[in-house]
Amino acid sequence: MPDDGDAELAEKPRAGVVTCPSCDLHVAVAEPNDAVELYRRHANVTGHDVEWERVAFDADVETDDVKQALVELGENHPDGVELGRLAAALADAGVAIGDTLDAVRDLRMSGEIYEPRDDHVLAV
Ligand SMILES: [Zn+2]
Repeated sequence: MPDDGDAELAEKPRAGVVTCPSCDLHVAVAEPNDAVELYRRHANVTGHDVEWERVAFDADVETDDVKQALVELGENHPDGVELGRLAAALADAGVAIGDTLDAVRDLRMSGEIYEPRDDHVLAV
């Protein structure tokens, strides 16, 4: 993992760092889905959109399409792709965490993806 000099972070984040541009929050997260939980909590309280600042796990896709990204990630995660991993992959393509979660909700409603475990999704 490249060290980009975040010396203020007390412990090495295992999954990465999420940030809130509106209130200068920086939080190290241990699991990809911790970012999603933090997003939900923070959005609930403040209405702000938390974003990935640094991602320290494998989350590379060639698309900014949520369903296509899920298909690609699902090949390596047949038990379900964590929402946080999907969001991190799409963040690289400029898709905000909130937009990813909205798209996931719509795709679930239309039956195009399903949730084999809590906060883990796969394309049908
Ligand atoms: Zn905030």
